[in-house]
Amino acid sequence: MDESFFADRLAAARERLAEAARDSGRAMDEVTIVAVSKHHPAESIRALAAAGQQDFGENYIQEFYDKNDSLHIDAIRWHFTGRLQSNKVKYAVGRFHLIHTVDSLKLARTLHNRAQQQETRQRVLVQVNVDGEEQKGGLALSELHGALDSIVALDGLDLRGLMCMPRYYDDPEDARPSFARLRELGEQSGRRLGFALEHYSMGMSHDYVQAVKEGATLVRIGTNLFGPRPSNR
Ligand SMILES: *Cc1c(COP(=O)(O)O)cnc(C)c1O
Repeated sequence: MDESFFADRLAAARERLAEAARDSGRAMDEVTIVAVSKHHPAESIRALAAAGQQDFGENYIQEFYDKNDSLHIDAIRWHFTGRLQSNKVKYAVGRFHLIHTVDSLKLARTLHNRAQQQETRQRVLVQVNVDGEEQKGGLALSELHGALDSIVALDGLDLRGLMCMPRYYDDPEDARPSFARLRELGEQSGRRLGFALEHYSMGMSHDYVQAVKEGATLVRIGTNLFGPRPSNR
């Protein structure tokens, strides 16, 4: 696929985002698109970056290393958007601008310890299981406030906000209460902690318009930018 394919898709995604922002009285520059490139080849990332996309999200550490080694594009800001296993923490700290998926206090402590060893602070978001789904990752609503109190005390971590992946609804309008819940929880937490959380990572290809209307600051878009994911990996 050539560069114009990606330039066109990026322009379309930005246009929809601008419209959603306008509809909800927000400025477009309050929202950053994170292009989730998992399973897509490095060459697609290169083409989308050439079209002006700066933030990219990867879900698998090894895949990230392989692509980053072949790309060598300093301007890219990498986000980690997958489930992070404890044994991969040492390969993640310091390599990502932002880790979106801190889904337990245990993982937070492991990240903190590693960051301290590396004498760095890792920017993170805490993932919240907003719809209380059993099979899904993220902190339960009931444990969120307690966990955030502990996480802000970890010097190796720089808590920037919250992330969620709501249930899949055929009609994305139905996801709006879940997005609103994350935003509300974040604002409550900010009041408790005494500083405002900056980021709400919510919304994917199917429902990012709705997420922006409910206050997303980071939208994670894969398919609408890259096309369908190759399924053979
Ligand atoms: C894959 C993925 C996305 C992108 O999904 P699309 O539906 O392709 O836009 C967003 N967020 C997370 C956490 C993902 O794993």
